[in-house]
Amino acid sequence: NTPLLEIKDLKVNFNTYAGVVQAVRGVSFTMDRGEIVAIVGESGCGKSVTAQTILKLNPSPPAEISGGSIHFNGQCISDYSEKQMRKIAGNQISMIFQDPMTSLNPTKRVGAQVMEGILKHQNVSKDEARKRAVEMLRLVGISNPENRMRQYPHEFSGGMRQRVMIAMALVCDPKILIADEPTTALDVTIQAQILDLMMDLRDKLGTAILIITHDMGVVADIADKVAIMYAGVIVEQGSVQEIFYNPQHPYTWGLLNSIPELYADSGRLVPIVGTPPDLLAPPEGCPFWDRCQYSMKVCEKHFPPAFEAGEGHDVHCWLMSEMAPKVEKSFKGVQ
Ligand code: SF4
Ligand code: MG
Repeated sequence: NTPLLEIKDLKVNFNTYAGVVQAVRGVSFTMDRGEIVAIVGESGCGKSVTAQTILKLNPSPPAEISGGSIHFNGQCISDYSEKQMRKIAGNQISMIFQDPMTSLNPTKRVGAQVMEGILKHQNVSKDEARKRAVEMLRLVGISNPENRMRQYPHEFSGGMRQRVMIAMALVCDPKILIADEPTTALDVTIQAQILDLMMDLRDKLGTAILIITHDMGVVADIADKVAIMYAGVIVEQGSVQEIFYNPQHPYTWGLLNSIPELYADSGRLVPIVGTPPDLLAPPEGCPFWDRCQYSMKVCEKHFPPAFEAGEGHDVHCWLMSEMAPKVEKSFKGVQ
């Protein structure tokens, strides 16, 4: 049973004047049909670079895939040419971004923009494309879509624009939707509505969703599977249940401790002190070493291998070793 998406030991460098920035340093994960996978981490951890590499959206140069592979439906797509990629992008795999205003064309009617993808990828008449665009807008919760088709992006609210983006992304019935911080620019109520919509569309259309976020609250709401990224590597990954109820990596504990909803009345909101390492010269050992309150001698020089903490739950931390001292976790658990 081949996974829908399989990323193996992916490495992405940026060749800059200052030197080689190792933005992604060996990332591996898989995604199945209809699955919602979240990649979580602070800005600069490589989560967006990883996602954009799938569709070759990082400008090359300076970006360069320096190792590993990406398979989609069993086919290696990491060495696809731009031309080959254009057949897949928007059709088999599509992407939405944080700010819909930058991806929508302000001078074009919304309907024409939704129809564009259909006309580009599917061999249908303009009338048929229009029909599908109207249906899709209705499906993403835009009422009176026939009239809305004739309006311009500025006539839509932020939440409605994100719905339009989702309609554009899904109108060719892709197998995968990549969503990079899709709700970050929206207020909390609208954010929840968009996440609900995405789950609803996954259920109706079977679209797998790769969501990129810094927000563990979003992860809790939507994800089936979670990968925690730090300094270009995945430090822990597992099912959403494993990550929230059986987290094992000190960085994951830090992220969980920073969810306001969990600790609003206990006053235990603890930010993670310090900054991530410079990826021009990444540390050879555990990248979290200088921020970790549990760090041991072995951590400084040796990158921890994957330890299994549960089914499909991998942790790159030396605390998981049988030889490590037992510690009291700084994470008190999700209540
Ligand atoms: Fe901390 Fe060591 Fe685990 Fe890294 S490997 S997170 S430094 S205990
Ligand atoms: Mg980003």
